[in-house]
Amino acid sequence: MTPSVQIDRLHTIDLQNPGHGHGERHDHGACVVSALERARTAFGDKGMKLTPLRQRVFEEIAGSHDALGAYDILDRMARKSGERLAPISVYRAIDALLAAGVVHRIESKNAFYACHAPHQGQERHIALVCERCQTVIEVSGADIFAAMETASAACGFKLSLAVAEGAGLCPSCATLLPIVLATDLVTQP
Ligand SMILES: [Zn+2]
Ligand SMILES: [Zn+2]
Ligand SMILES: [Zn+2]
Repeated sequence: MTPSVQIDRLHTIDLQNPGHGHGERHDHGACVVSALERARTAFGDKGMKLTPLRQRVFEEIAGSHDALGAYDILDRMARKSGERLAPISVYRAIDALLAAGVVHRIESKNAFYACHAPHQGQERHIALVCERCQTVIEVSGADIFAAMETASAACGFKLSLAVAEGAGLCPSCATLLPIVLATDLVTQP
């Protein structure tokens, strides 16, 4: 059995997989269903095809709120199906998911996460990545991107990529880390 620390009825941290669902119990199946629904709509709207491979890759990424590297995705898919896909086919599927806007890249980690935030229009978000559990939380970042555009334009720079990422501890890890560290001390021989 996986060890876990019960904090209260709502907050449990799974010590071997603390990232899942921000360490909070929630119906992640519902997150996956709505993410898949948005993916179908996004692909349809852009006249792109959500092929079975693209859907499998998306489901793997959307299986948690964590940022995953391409090789993590490949490994997880191989463990499930017993068949190892060529990295290039997974990269192509990820490219299509990025183009459809249903998966985003963490530039500083070259990792990918499924978008669980309905973006209003073209609103851009800041990706906050937990350094402990890899959970990604998207928060509105319109002001930051506007400031980058204004500052670039002011010096005549043509901006083609604007990235806003933050690293630190998600709310669960910030709350639970002292407890987990204490538990580690108790369980270490
Ligand atoms: Zn979820
Ligand atoms: Zn998003
Ligand atoms: Zn965390």
